[in-house]
Amino acid sequence: MATPNGARDPGQPAGKAPALPRPLRSLEVKFTQIFINNEWHKSESGKKFATYNPTTLEKICEVEEGDKADVDKAVAAAHEAFQRGSPWRRLDALSRGYLLHQLADLVERDRALLATLETLDTGKPFLHAYFVDLEGCIRTLRYFAGWADKIQGKTIPTDDNVVCFTRHEPIGVCGAITPWNFPLLMLVWKLAPALCCGNTVVVKPAEQTPLTALHLGSLIKEVGFPPGVVNIVPGFGPTVGAAISSHPQITKIAFTGSTEVGKLVKEAASRSNLKRVTLELGGKNPCIVCADADLDLAVQCAHQGVFFNQGQCCTAASRVFVEEPVYPEFVRRSVEYAQKRPVGDPFDAKTEQGPQIDQKQFDKILQLIESGRKEGAKLECGGSAIEDRGLFIKPTVFSEVTDSMRIAKEEIFGPVQPIMKFKDLEEVIRRANSLEYGLTAAVFTRSLDKALKLAAALDSGTVWINCYNTIYAQAPFGGFKMSGNGRELGEYALSEYTEVKTVTIKLDDKSP
Ligand code: NAP
Ligand code: MG
Repeated sequence: MATPNGARDPGQPAGKAPALPRPLRSLEVKFTQIFINNEWHKSESGKKFATYNPTTLEKICEVEEGDKADVDKAVAAAHEAFQRGSPWRRLDALSRGYLLHQLADLVERDRALLATLETLDTGKPFLHAYFVDLEGCIRTLRYFAGWADKIQGKTIPTDDNVVCFTRHEPIGVCGAITPWNFPLLMLVWKLAPALCCGNTVVVKPAEQTPLTALHLGSLIKEVGFPPGVVNIVPGFGPTVGAAISSHPQITKIAFTGSTEVGKLVKEAASRSNLKRVTLELGGKNPCIVCADADLDLAVQCAHQGVFFNQGQCCTAASRVFVEEPVYPEFVRRSVEYAQKRPVGDPFDAKTEQGPQIDQKQFDKILQLIESGRKEGAKLECGGSAIEDRGLFIKPTVFSEVTDSMRIAKEEIFGPVQPIMKFKDLEEVIRRANSLEYGLTAAVFTRSLDKALKLAAALDSGTVWINCYNTIYAQAPFGGFKMSGNGRELGEYALSEYTEVKTVTIKLDDKSP
């Protein structure tokens, strides 16, 4: 998800701005069935469920609704594909990487189509889907493609007559349960390292947004991954999700979503077979603006940090702490930005903010806004839905926010910026670290001393200094405390998808 700014189409003459990518206007959704063994299946129960366009509230199409029986079929296929001597297990490591590169090629080929599908299903601006989500997918696939033949064990020094070494082996059938905010990207964050290490996978996409995962299934087949290596079962959390979390033949699970469901997944993993678990569970991320910061940069980054993706980001800058002397100016400029934010049709190139994902999230955000008002925060702008337009909410800024208010403690997952005040560094460190979350933090300062002090003191998996949402496929991502367990991306992700085996050989030391 690295910022794609400045990327130039190599086919374009230097100096001429490349044309903006265009969505596919008349898109027929081709893949709506369960993907097992490189084939498309109807659900065992015969049930289907609808997926909606949150911009228009119209039904896009119906998708086959998986349940436990379909998960059992998918796991059987993934288990078979993982057996010793199978085409997948016999594939040499370089070829595994090559398949991932070819998958990245097809994602590039279908980039506008996938971005269109993502916009239809999520309501996120098409250009964001194209330049952030799809760029992130392609880079992540290529990054892990490069690792496939470089996952090396070690030789361990022991005795002269002993050879001791480690092998990093795939774990087996991996489950992946993904959320609706970055449907394809969160899937690729799990799929790419799992496949690069030689595992097989069973995926459950979020019920609101199954379409890009299913299209990716068609590309998996087109590339020529052996049948059963990737299987995709759309459906609901309590059925498909629970069946994956508790399945005795799944040996690892990766989940992104709410803390509440993360706990259920870990519990089911413990009760069934102690499968390995990685969790990415969101945050209430502090964004600290010191008085010596480049204020333009801080205002702009804090704005993008909280409003990007309709505020539906686990990394959202949803606790902004501003040092007292610059507080009034920071609030004034933040309000200006929020009031200018273009909200509307996500297929319009000028739009920065589309609708929220569904009615449940929309209602939850409006309730939290109401709680902010009632608890005494100052509503600077926004604060309500946009009339007559379904699930759209006005970009909202609250000042005079205190730590005990709900908007300062709970994940809002909507376009709401709560701004607090602080006096000194020790105080802001204590307040920033006071919640049970610890996903990301950001610091804006021109002082190297302050930046490094805060980088060390903040309890979070990522600290951004003078930037925001700067995520690279090669850098690990994950949370401290209740924001999660384990890491996705980077070399660190490989250890989440491999078992380490120690092989010790005693040599015959009788001969001279
Ligand atoms: P969620 O329920 O945690 O959804 C995440 C995934 O888990 C979905 O695929 C969901 O299936 C599945 N799931 C639900 N119940 C399950 C179960 N018992 N066992 C296994 N899997 C299960 O999140 P949500 O309800 O969509 O959103 C609620 C809140 O979660 C948001 O307001 C936000 O605070 C947080 N959230 C965080 C992230 C993040 O990036 N960390 C992403 C999304 C949401 P369904 O499709 O049926 O729900
Ligand atoms: Mg849910």
